[in-house]
Amino acid sequence: MNRNQLQTPCYVIHQEELKQGIDLLKESLQNYWNNYIIGYSFKTNSLPFLVEEMKKYGFYAEVVSEDEYRLAKSFGYTNIIYNGPVKGKESFFDALSIGAIINLDAKRELRWLREWQESADLTKEIKFKIGLRVNFNLEEMTPKETSAGEEGSRFGFSYETGELKDAIEELEKLGIKLSGLHLHVSSKTRSVAIYRNLAKKACEIKEKYGLRPEYIDIGGGYFGGMKNRPQFPDYVKAIREELLAGFLPENTMLIMEPGTSIITPPIEFISTVVDVRDTYANRIVTLDGSRIDVDPLHSKSSYFYQIEYTSQQEEKDSQKDKNFSQEAMDRKVREKQIVCGLTCMENDRLFALENQKELKEGDRISFQKVGGYTMCLTPLFIRYFPRVYVENKGECQLVRRAWSENEYCGG
Ligand SMILES: *Cc1c(COP(=O)(O)O)cnc(C)c1O
Repeated sequence: MNRNQLQTPCYVIHQEELKQGIDLLKESLQNYWNNYIIGYSFKTNSLPFLVEEMKKYGFYAEVVSEDEYRLAKSFGYTNIIYNGPVKGKESFFDALSIGAIINLDAKRELRWLREWQESADLTKEIKFKIGLRVNFNLEEMTPKETSAGEEGSRFGFSYETGELKDAIEELEKLGIKLSGLHLHVSSKTRSVAIYRNLAKKACEIKEKYGLRPEYIDIGGGYFGGMKNRPQFPDYVKAIREELLAGFLPENTMLIMEPGTSIITPPIEFISTVVDVRDTYANRIVTLDGSRIDVDPLHSKSSYFYQIEYTSQQEEKDSQKDKNFSQEAMDRKVREKQIVCGLTCMENDRLFALENQKELKEGDRISFQKVGGYTMCLTPLFIRYFPRVYVENKGECQLVRRAWSENEYCGG
């Protein structure tokens, strides 16, 4: 089926665009640090179709909970990066046994390592890799840029307080090699400077404690597919420039854990106008989609969107009836129309259209670049999960049915 035949509300994954982003990332790594692993951040969007797709691209599963770990395994992933402050003990042991990359983020994981050593058959050679997530004052190096700000990040072992040093020593005592440093942080700006400083810090820590890590995991948090914003080559080039002060591509692997930079650009959400009304204060336009579908955290101040007037769609379907398109051309311009979502919340308002042609029932509004932190964060509120289609060369296929009371009830 083609785009105009899709049943809204729905998400559409554009496969070609997804591939373009991934190709650019791989190319950047090949050019600037040709010894790398890419771990796809499951939490950013773990739609089963995408979990499968990312595996085909050779990505590792980057997971941050026992549930995500099990999801990755159920899809046949054998290459897993296990992160996060709340790993499950059972999956932690399993990760050791399958030779995963595990970035420790809590003291109890050091205790689990000791326990595991006491119980495991150490004659078998198992090639797991243990890294330590580093907590340090990045806010000082890049003021006003980190998400945690002056309160400091809550993740990892603190460099400044000595907890990182203690963890390094504990690993030594256990006779377990420290394979890597994990430096993921989330920032408000996603600037290249953030990654320069992460790389700088990796060199400093290596030097200070005389480490020989096999990998530097620089985490996720990049922009991708946005005009006037840094692109993958900008980030990887900067990381290279800084890392070279302490490491060489020949003996140190660079791990990147992109989520949003890869999956946000190629996914759009399409909704249809179902009602138009005039109140004493405003013209209200209601969609069959919601703000929770494109901005579940209510954190965006603007959206990438396109309006498709009914007649334009009809025209694309058949060139016959020119009166329809004339109808759209002749529509009145309205000073203000408030576009709202389907939920029964007053704040389910998306934006005000100003001085635009009036919207009518059947028109569509599509929102672009909404693949990250949407589907996986949209609550089962009022309406259950919407359909998801995949588009390739204009042809669309359903990859997730809309949820009904059956899925909701676990049937
Ligand atoms: C969330 C997360 C990522 C991905 O972040 P994006 O902003 O989606 O790129 C990567 N690594 C870790 C450890 C994370 O928690």
